[in-house]
Amino acid sequence: MKVAKFGGSSVANAEQLRKVANIIQDDRDRKVIVVSAPGKRFSEDTKVTDLLIEMGEAFLNNKPYEDKLETVLNRFKDITNELNISDEVINEIKQGVVEIFASDNSAELKMDAIKATGEDSLAKVLSVYLQSLGLKAAYLNPADAGIFVSDNPGSAQILEESYDHLYKLRDRDEIVIIPGFFGYTKDGKLITFSRGGSDITGSIVAAGVKADLYENFTDVDSVYCVNPNIVPSPKEITSLTYKEMRELSYAGFSVFHDEALIPAFKADIPVCIKNTNNPQAMGTIIVSKKEPQPNPVVGIASDTGFVSIYISKYLMNREIGFGRKLLTILEDEGISFEHTPSGIDDISVIIRESRMTKEKEERVITRIKNELHPDTVHIDRDLALIMVVGEGMDSTVGLADKATHAFAEANVNLEMINQGSSEVSMMFGIKSSKVDESVRALYKTFFG
Ligand code: ASP
Repeated sequence: MKVAKFGGSSVANAEQLRKVANIIQDDRDRKVIVVSAPGKRFSEDTKVTDLLIEMGEAFLNNKPYEDKLETVLNRFKDITNELNISDEVINEIKQGVVEIFASDNSAELKMDAIKATGEDSLAKVLSVYLQSLGLKAAYLNPADAGIFVSDNPGSAQILEESYDHLYKLRDRDEIVIIPGFFGYTKDGKLITFSRGGSDITGSIVAAGVKADLYENFTDVDSVYCVNPNIVPSPKEITSLTYKEMRELSYAGFSVFHDEALIPAFKADIPVCIKNTNNPQAMGTIIVSKKEPQPNPVVGIASDTGFVSIYISKYLMNREIGFGRKLLTILEDEGISFEHTPSGIDDISVIIRESRMTKEKEERVITRIKNELHPDTVHIDRDLALIMVVGEGMDSTVGLADKATHAFAEANVNLEMINQGSSEVSMMFGIKSSKVDESVRALYKTFFG
């Protein structure tokens, strides 16, 4: 039994939905389907979810929202017209929106219900379309599927009991279409996952039904070993482990929603990333374990937008509690940190720039000065991190040598090196302006 999830670009218009239907028909093991809301049809287009958010915000700010609703309705009308199926969904959306806006719910709950309309309506449309093709298919609301979540609007967490409910889907003989991106609290409130959360639903459903495979259909043939915007037509990754995927996604590989792999990983279900526009391509498979490879490096990821707080103090290594006090200051400001490389008398804390506003930065620096009495404290900006990722790197001689040579050849100064805390990656900190040439040099070394 396979669970197939189709992302926004795969369901963006009627033409894409025809491809989706073919893919479902091609393999009768694809019994449970999870869908996103219609995404962009062309690069300047707007995703239905973004239109819905704009509409919800307009309503909540007492501004006219009707034009946004009209645009959403037209997106669905185009689909139903072209597929020659009933447009009942249009009335359902209109009525749903009226009910959501008129309810006594909080602004947050209204917003979640509005956001979920895209997925919910698309799931209905797809099931009607599959029925029109003579398939036994049924739309299934997440509440009826048993997808129960915590009461955190916009960032729902799945409740463990959902998996048992979902297992019962195995008994159904029709193809079941479930909208992604949202679930319900035990007392019936609709709550969405974080943005991009249909991936999470897909993974949860795959874990719940104990699928043999979770197929995640998107618009690329596979995961590339490096960002194709930096290296044109890079090598494709045919298989990688969950751990490798996680390390890669940490630094800019945005194939998958961060949280999405967890349920499938815990249930040990292989995940296959495939292309709706080219379903014949093998795709990339993500598994728990794989055979050792001659070249253990599977990918190179890079991301900019990091800052480093550098602190030095003579005899820091003897001062008990220094690290704790430093991290408490960050905790008090609600800032999570990424790495803390340290030396005998110094420590750096690497943080994502987006988590450190100007005001927070000022408060953090003042408190570090007042409470820790360092000799020096300063912030370095424009830091980029490059991760060289692959299981088996820990037991292969000479990889760090190769990597540092590549940086030297590209004439890039290394600000930071971190290897050891993870057995599957080496991390390098460099100036953001040097990312592209560094990644190209590393690619040449490991894959060229
Ligand atoms: N439609 C939602 C979003 O755009 C969820 C998803 O597509 O996965 O965030």
